[in-house]
Amino acid sequence: MQELAISNLHVSVETDEGTREILRGINLTIHAGEIHALMGPNGNGKSTLSETIMGNPHYQVTQGDIRMDGQSILDWTVDQRARAGLFLAMQYPPAIAGITNAAFIRAAVNARRAKDDQMPVTRFLRELDERLTQLKMKPDMADRYLNAGFSGGEKKKNEILQLLMVQPHLAILDEIDSGLDVDAMRIVAEAVNSMRGPQFSTLIITHYQRLLDYIVPDFVHVLKDGCIIESGGAALAKQLEQSGYEDISEAAE
Ligand code: ADP
Ligand code: MG
Ligand code: MG
Repeated sequence: MQELAISNLHVSVETDEGTREILRGINLTIHAGEIHALMGPNGNGKSTLSETIMGNPHYQVTQGDIRMDGQSILDWTVDQRARAGLFLAMQYPPAIAGITNAAFIRAAVNARRAKDDQMPVTRFLRELDERLTQLKMKPDMADRYLNAGFSGGEKKKNEILQLLMVQPHLAILDEIDSGLDVDAMRIVAEAVNSMRGPQFSTLIITHYQRLLDYIVPDFVHVLKDGCIIESGGAALAKQLEQSGYEDISEAAE
């Protein structure tokens, strides 16, 4: 993947009160190798954007497009998007009883690979072990049911474990820092930084500048009321830490 281009994206969801438009014309282009941060107050559409990029059918695209290397992906299933190299670390990863973490991750790894190039189980287990150590996760995390009884911090680290194993082209990390203590955040940030390179890009969704001290973004965007109201470099995140989001929205009006 060289480029993911989001243009004039409008997204609605069905609610009990009827159809509600959440995203109102998002424009955002992410090139291979770039780190983008998406910030903004709660409830303004950040997770909606990440779920829409990944293809969650609950979110209806009513206008605009999402193109990967020029080709629209709007008709693609979640599986097709994953195979093409898109990855989402969810803000609230669901627990799945009956599927072990290792089995889930192995399926995700092999889904990215050709049928005649599936990762042998011995190599998979060795790599998984190395990644668990790298993230300072307990070895038994592999054998437990996916996210079942995981603490908030364990769930977040587990999303990063999947990231390291799957090696996607574009990773969307939705509030990967929430609920992490400083040590865990540093470990997670180092893991993300270890992925950096010309074939990897990431969209980091966060409320806090703190994570961006460790993963320095090339671009920072502010999402408010379903629109990107401001974009800039890493300095914008620092400025937001000082001023909050209110000043930005007033300046944009
Ligand atoms: P953020 O991630 O910026 O906190 P979200 O994208 O989660 O914001 O939510 C934006 C708005 O859309 C909120 O008002 C939220 O309640 C609403 N919303 C998001 N997902 C759904 C859904 N599946 N059904 C109904 N409303 C939703
Ligand atoms: Mg939120
Ligand atoms: Mg969210």
